[in-house]
Amino acid sequence: MAWSLLLRGGTVVDGTGAPGRAADVAVEGGRIVAVAPALSGAAERVLDVTGRVVAPGFIDMHSHSDLFYFACPSAESKIRQGVTTEVVGMCSFSPAPVRADQQALVKGWVGGIGQTPDLPWETFGQYLDRLRELRPAVNVIHLVGHGALRIAAMGFEARPAGADDLRRMERGLGDAMDAGAWGFSTGLVYPPSAYAHTDELIALAKSMRGRHGYYFSHIRGESAMLLESITEAIRIGDAGGVPVQIAHVKASGPENWSKLDGALGMIDDARRRGVDVAGDVYPYNAGSTKMDNLMPAWAHEGGVMKLLERLADRAMRKRITDECLADGERWGTVSQGRIGFDQIFIAACRRRELEGLNLAQLASQSGKAPAEALLDLLLDEKCTVGMVSFSQSLDNVAKVMAHPALMIGSDSIPLFEGEGDRPGKPHPRTYGTFPRVLGEYARERRLFSLETAVHKMTGMPAARLGLGDRGVVRVGAVADLAVFDAATVKDESTYPDPHRYPTGIPYVVVNGQLAVDGGRLTGPGAGRVLTPAR
Ligand SMILES: [Zn+2]
Repeated sequence: MAWSLLLRGGTVVDGTGAPGRAADVAVEGGRIVAVAPALSGAAERVLDVTGRVVAPGFIDMHSHSDLFYFACPSAESKIRQGVTTEVVGMCSFSPAPVRADQQALVKGWVGGIGQTPDLPWETFGQYLDRLRELRPAVNVIHLVGHGALRIAAMGFEARPAGADDLRRMERGLGDAMDAGAWGFSTGLVYPPSAYAHTDELIALAKSMRGRHGYYFSHIRGESAMLLESITEAIRIGDAGGVPVQIAHVKASGPENWSKLDGALGMIDDARRRGVDVAGDVYPYNAGSTKMDNLMPAWAHEGGVMKLLERLADRAMRKRITDECLADGERWGTVSQGRIGFDQIFIAACRRRELEGLNLAQLASQSGKAPAEALLDLLLDEKCTVGMVSFSQSLDNVAKVMAHPALMIGSDSIPLFEGEGDRPGKPHPRTYGTFPRVLGEYARERRLFSLETAVHKMTGMPAARLGLGDRGVVRVGAVADLAVFDAATVKDESTYPDPHRYPTGIPYVVVNGQLAVDGGRLTGPGAGRVLTPAR
C-alpha cells in the first residue's frame, strides 16, 4: 500500500524539544505512519524537503479568529504561518451563546472591526455546527466566553452576579462544555466580564471540576494592578481546581515594566505549590484591541449603544477625561497603563484615511486636544475602531518568551471583510507571530534554540491541552505539519505594511492534507473543530 504523502530529506524537529534529526516522514490516513531516515516505500505524493525542517504544525494558544472563519475560511493569514490549530473564544469573547432577544446587544459587543457579523444561532452547539460546516483550513479549539455567558444570564449590567444569575451562567457553561467547549475565558478588563467579582469566577471554575475544563484569563489589570491580577488568576484556578492559562503575559505602561519579574516569580511560586498555571505571549511590544477599551469599565454599562450616549454627553465626557487623562499628557487605563497619545495607533475604522495615524497626529490634524480627538473618533465611528498601542518593553517580551512555563499565542485579531479583502492596519502578529519566533528570536537573537522555539509552539501547548496525538512528529500522531527553512524563515508583516505573508514556509499539512503546497493554498480546508476527551 502506498502512503499518501512522503516528506523526504528533511530535519525533523519533533516538538518535544529534542534535538533535530535527519528523517523522512510518511503520512497515511491522516496520521504519521513512519519517521526514519531513508524511507523507501511508495507514496502518492513525495515532497523533497532537503535542507528544511519538518515540525509539528503550530498551535496558536491564543487567537481571536472566531468570526474570521466565517468571512475567510481559508484562514490564510494563519495557515501560511504554519499554524494548524488555533485556540479561540478568548478574553471573555465568544460568538455564542446568544439569546434570541439579545442579538443586537451581542453583535455590538462581540463584533469585530470592519464587519457586521450575523449570529444565526443561539446555543454554543448550534454555533459549533455552523463552524464545522465552513470547513476552516485550521483545527479549532473553542472556549466559551465569560462575557457571552454573563450577557445571556444577566444582560450587560455592572453589578455582581446574584445566586440566580450564577446558576444560569453555570448552566450556560455546562451546555457549552457538553457541545465541545474546552472551558471558559475571562477578559477582566472588558465589560461585562470586568463586572464580575472573584467569587463568581471561582464558582464557575468549580462547576467545571471533573470535566477537564480550562480557565483562560486576560487578567484584571496588566499595568498598576499586575501583581494583584496575577494573584487573582492563580487563586481562581487553585480554588476552582482547574488549570489556569494567563493570556499574553506582560506589564503595560513604562511605569509598570519593573513589575514583570515579580509577576513571573508569582507564576513560578504557584507552580511550585502545585497550582496548574501557565501562560502565553506574543513576540511584539505593542498590543491591539478595540479602542473603546480605552474608556473606563463603568462607561460601558448597558453595551455599546449606552457607551455612545455617554460619549455624546458633555458631563460624561468630562468625567471620563478627568479619570483617564492622568498627567495631562498620557492616557491611563487599567489595561494599558499610562501611554502617550503618540503610542496609540488607529488600526481600523470606517474612514480608511485615518488608519495608521496615531492619536497625537489625529489631534493635530483636527485641531483638537488629543483626549477630545479620541472621544470624538469613538463617537463618529460608533466605537468600531481597532487600535495598536505600544505599552510594553522589548526586554520584557524576550524575558516572558524565554520563561519555561510560557508558550506562544498570537492574540491576533484579524481584520477582514471576505476572502481576498485586506482592510485596515492590523497588528503584524496576525501575519507574523510564528515565523517571528523562529526567525527573529531563535535564529537572529538566539533567545533560545530552534528546538525550544518549536516546542513552545507545538508540544508545549499540545501537552497543556491534553492533545496526546498532536503537537509532535512521531508515529501514530495526527499529521499536522509545518515545513520551513530555518535559515530564511521570516515574518514580513510590519506595522505600516501589515498584510504580508511570511517567507520560508513552503508546506503546511493539516490532518494529513496539504493545506499549503509549494507556497500556494490548496482547496477546501481540512481543519476540524476539536472537542476535548472527557
Ligand atoms: Zn486579551
